[in-house]
Amino acid sequence: MPKKTIKTIRVDVDKCNGCRSCEVICSAFHAEPKYSSSNPARSRIRVIREPYSDMYVPVYAGEYTPAECAGRDKYTIDGKEYEECAFCRASCPSRPEFKEPDSGLPLKCDMCEGEDEPLCVKWCITDALIYEEREEEVDEEVEQEEMEIGLEALTSKYGLQQIKAVLSRMSEKE
Ligand code: SF4
Ligand code: SF4
Repeated sequence: MPKKTIKTIRVDVDKCNGCRSCEVICSAFHAEPKYSSSNPARSRIRVIREPYSDMYVPVYAGEYTPAECAGRDKYTIDGKEYEECAFCRASCPSRPEFKEPDSGLPLKCDMCEGEDEPLCVKWCITDALIYEEREEEVDEEVEQEEMEIGLEALTSKYGLQQIKAVLSRMSEKE
């Protein structure tokens, strides 16, 4: 059975000081041209900040979802109630997080493809972000199915032409 590398970033919330260096480097790395600008709104990691209670929670951009989910979550931490979906990783129609500001296209953490280690991990001087890798066996059919479902959802929301334009920009960079 083929194997794939599972990449994980472990977040130690107790060590995060809310400096937002991770947002700065992530948006700079993904700027076009690379490192030409830095705008946290384009970052694939956002830090939920509560300076008065000294609490900072880095959240990574996860999967795109075309529809809002019917079940929402709401957290209360140290007596403070957070907004609905505050810690959700999805790029979703119900909120502005994890969307490219100009095009509205969803943003997803790609683990800094091409780099030996995620840059947010390298730039986190407090070691709140810890990078880990492991090998796992995969079922090829399931992998293919997941990819097709994701592509279908993106195409129905943004249209084939826009997706093609993004793919062509990406292939030019390679
Ligand atoms: S760089 Fe590290 S300490 Fe700074 S906000 Fe990001 S996770 Fe927190
Ligand atoms: S791993 Fe790379 S793409 Fe993902 S949040 Fe960190 S800097 Fe951004």
